[in-house]
Amino acid sequence: MKLGWLFLAGLAAAPWSTNGSAQTMDFGKIEIITERLAPNVYMLSGSSGIDPGHEDAAGGRIGVLAGPDGILMVDAQYAQLTNKVVAAIRRISSGPIRYLVNTHIHRDHTAGNANFAKMGAVIFAREELREGMVRLSKAPDATSNPVANPAGFPAVTYGMGPAVKIYMNDEIVDLIPIRAAHTGGDTNIKFEKANVVFIGDFYRNYGYPFIDINNGGSLRGMLEGLDLTMKSADANTTLVPGHGTIIKRGDIVPYRDMIVAVADKVQQLIGQGKSLQEVLAAKVTAPYHARTAGGTDDSAVRFVTEVYQELKGTK
Ligand SMILES: [Zn+2]
Repeated sequence: MKLGWLFLAGLAAAPWSTNGSAQTMDFGKIEIITERLAPNVYMLSGSSGIDPGHEDAAGGRIGVLAGPDGILMVDAQYAQLTNKVVAAIRRISSGPIRYLVNTHIHRDHTAGNANFAKMGAVIFAREELREGMVRLSKAPDATSNPVANPAGFPAVTYGMGPAVKIYMNDEIVDLIPIRAAHTGGDTNIKFEKANVVFIGDFYRNYGYPFIDINNGGSLRGMLEGLDLTMKSADANTTLVPGHGTIIKRGDIVPYRDMIVAVADKVQQLIGQGKSLQEVLAAKVTAPYHARTAGGTDDSAVRFVTEVYQELKGTK
């Protein structure tokens, strides 16, 4: 289990984890880049080459719906970037930030929550996400962990079931719960009229898939979530992952196929009694390496380890 342990030790300090360990990146260098996706829907991304966990764009992506009824945000980025995020939003609109929806619990998406709540935003998320934050608030390092700050806990929660709908700015915003996939509390956020869906992190085209089993994610949920995302989109829908480039529905197919193929291969090796080290040594992701941007060995090890642990039933 040596490799597995190394991997788990790495998890504890990673920027996408939910704990409060020290950051090594220079937040001062990060710029927020705004892109308009529809007449009143925008995407805010951090600049590249600064966040070691997300080389392509620092932190998690933010969505903004702006108009006369005020602003709805998807995700809140790192807490250290709040001022820059607010400045970027103010270039779009001077309206009040009324609602903030979290796609999942990871700190690059939620650490800024408390800052936006203090400005008056009402935070929506899955009950499972809130439970995760409450759990973190009881951990020994809670005071240094922005995700564990009760001021940033969601005020309105929901479970699996029909989408929660928010009507504002002549738009219908669907908060679509996803069964435990990237984490145990994932949500897709769909802007119906704009035909844009923010899909969080269970699809990613920078690095290999990330099933965070320590935060309730699962392989089966990942596949279900991808199917549900394809169902809630048409060929023209703009799908915005939390990291990486914007995609269309058809881009999910090869990604899903890759997950299924890797899982099949790992299952086969488990059937032959192979250990985690042996499975990792078999490099089952090799056929996908060339077409996986950011597909580092670390990213492959993380993915294959998660698949192994879930299929083996050790997680
Ligand atoms: Zn994430």
